[in-house]
Amino acid sequence: MKIIIIGGGVVGCGAALELADRGAEVLLFERGELGAEASSAAAGILGAQVELKEPSPLLKRFVRARALMREWASELEQRTGDDVGYRASGVLRVARDSADFTAIQRQAAWQRAEGVRSDVLGAAEARRLAPAISGGLHGAVWFEDDAQVDPRKLMRALISAVSRINIEVRRDCEVTGVLTESGRCIGVEFKQPGPNRGVAYADAVVVAGGSWSSRLAGLPCDWPQVEPIRGQMLELECETPSDSGSPIVYNCDGYVVPRGTGRVVCGSTMESVGFSREVTPNAIESIRKNAITLVPALSRARTVATWSNFRPFCGPGGPVIGVSSVPRLYLAAGHHRNGILLARHTALAIADAVLTNRPDILPYAPLRS
Ligand SMILES: Cc1cc2nc3c(=O)[nH]c(=O)nc-3n(C[C@H](O)[C@H](O)[C@H](O)COP(=O)(O)OP(=O)(O)OC[C@H]3O[C@@H](n4cnc5c(N)ncnc54)[C@H](O)[C@@H]3O)c2cc1C
Repeated sequence: MKIIIIGGGVVGCGAALELADRGAEVLLFERGELGAEASSAAAGILGAQVELKEPSPLLKRFVRARALMREWASELEQRTGDDVGYRASGVLRVARDSADFTAIQRQAAWQRAEGVRSDVLGAAEARRLAPAISGGLHGAVWFEDDAQVDPRKLMRALISAVSRINIEVRRDCEVTGVLTESGRCIGVEFKQPGPNRGVAYADAVVVAGGSWSSRLAGLPCDWPQVEPIRGQMLELECETPSDSGSPIVYNCDGYVVPRGTGRVVCGSTMESVGFSREVTPNAIESIRKNAITLVPALSRARTVATWSNFRPFCGPGGPVIGVSSVPRLYLAAGHHRNGILLARHTALAIADAVLTNRPDILPYAPLRS
């Protein structure tokens, strides 16, 4: 079976690898470089629990996705010899005031009722767990099972795995539209640098174009709108590695993710500004201030890098992974803040759906016709 994947981020590469592992012939189109968009820009928090504030049916899937990422991290390391930066670091969600503390205690309580670990800590207990954090906090919740990968390392390993198996990758090759015949998807049209245009045919096409997933010609009219939500990021280097703290520390304004090397990634903004890639001094300053509020020793840290990229958002219900109203045309997009967490889960779901052509086995609601 021949399958075309549009988009070489963590979602597209993950699906391509799984499909090729199961024997499919895969052709992957990427209009730039593999992994160069949201997937390398992410903080890499596998925040199955910290990310879900209100009771949600997504919890079980997120927890499963987190476990799948742990297995996948070690599988990718074995396949390629590349470290993906997996760390079972836990996430400490700290409360700045009593209203915030009440809210996170509620979050911990509903999650405990669902059978997952989340411990409410007083300020002193939280500081024993993470001595680098600020003294001025009201309390915290310890999501011990949340974890992290380093997305740039993950993408390097994934690209290496993709290159070692029989997947044809066309870089610098933009898909401009999907082709249909008798109501079924049969392939894509693409353009390469210069005047070169072409068509490619396949038994199935998977759109994994991140924030650009609804910008192709020939999509059905019920295709969901995927919108870019810009996030700006700041990377710091500490004077001494112990300054950076150990668990991920998270509050209502952002987070600090220590990589264990003295490098710390701090985020982020949520901005609806179209595809503007601008990194703004005000946003970076407020990310830095919040990071210092969380971990005061970061006031001595040096800025290593700043960047921005786009979270693909298509509604509060989570990503859309499924077959469309056009047979043989699939969508795997809208992973928003949790595409790294959900990468392996999505790859398995897409491979199951495409190879068995049974959309009912997908974990998320498929597109409605
Ligand atoms: C600042 C920031 C912080 C984040 N932090 C986290 C986090 O801590 N944890 C977490 O789980 N998630 C996080 N995310 C979210 C996560 O990064 C995304 O959900 C995930 O990377 C989406 O992967 P993707 O493959 O769908 O998209 P992308 O990585 O954007 O890849 C899409 C690819 O498709 C290509 N493409 C698009 N259209 C075409 C076309 N027509 N033809 C050919 N190629 C095309 C693009 O060039 C791109 O390479 C964060 C995101 C951002 C921006």
